[in-house]
Amino acid sequence: MTTYCFNCQYEDTGRDLPLPERPPDPKRLRARMVRLLQARGIRDERVLSAMNNVPRHLFVQKALAVQAYEDTPLPIGFGQSISQPYIVALMSSLLKLKPGLRVLEIGTGSGYQAAVLAQLGCTVFTVECVPELYRETGNLLHSLGFRSIYAFFGDGTLGLPDAAPFDRIIITACGPKIPAPLVEQLDKNGILIAPVGSREHQRLTCLHKSGDHPVAREHDAVIFVDLVGIHGRGTDQRAKSLPSEVGRVFL
Ligand code: SAH
Repeated sequence: MTTYCFNCQYEDTGRDLPLPERPPDPKRLRARMVRLLQARGIRDERVLSAMNNVPRHLFVQKALAVQAYEDTPLPIGFGQSISQPYIVALMSSLLKLKPGLRVLEIGTGSGYQAAVLAQLGCTVFTVECVPELYRETGNLLHSLGFRSIYAFFGDGTLGLPDAAPFDRIIITACGPKIPAPLVEQLDKNGILIAPVGSREHQRLTCLHKSGDHPVAREHDAVIFVDLVGIHGRGTDQRAKSLPSEVGRVFL
């Protein structure tokens, strides 16, 4: 009688063959991650579906790819990190996104959040201040075919006055307050989400503009890396070496 090894296609010949290692199926891991997000209270079907489609394992270092679908932040080099999936889902849900919106992201990092926004049908303008991340992530997003993401290099706390106003703004690094130029560049009826606070105590803060009057509401306690730059955490050395103009380099 012919038997087959569990989990593999190989015929069991009775010899002591090494079992081939089956790489985990990213699709199944992603579906599991989405179920976990639902269990944690994420209800926005569009966000869940976008996160079910974006291959998060391609946005982290190869050695960490096996952990890509766990609900945890991961290092991406240069002292920065990719946010945990729950935080990406929560921030995206609070932004009440729909196709066609113009979204400004400060802190491109790995590009994962930008990819989720693009997958939701938004046009994304994303700014990064670490040149290597700007370049590497720009190339990755391009090679993955994201054509509605425009990557910029520079101090994101200045925003992108030439492309303003934006329907939505998302800041994925934490400063002591929401940078004033970004509030200005938010369209009337726009929504901005950002972690705000000290290094130790931060709150996700959602700012709704109705007319010219922004109303802020605090949500979950969070931990993000520093928002550097003129309107960010001024103590950071990196802030001083940033160009004062945000520039776009075509990738
Ligand atoms: N959205 C990212 C999260 C990256 S972590 C992702 O999905 O992976 C935050 C990023 O913000 C870091 O890459 C950091 O370099 C960047 N950052 C911090 N201050 C900034 C500033 N003033 N302008 C632009 N980027 C900034």
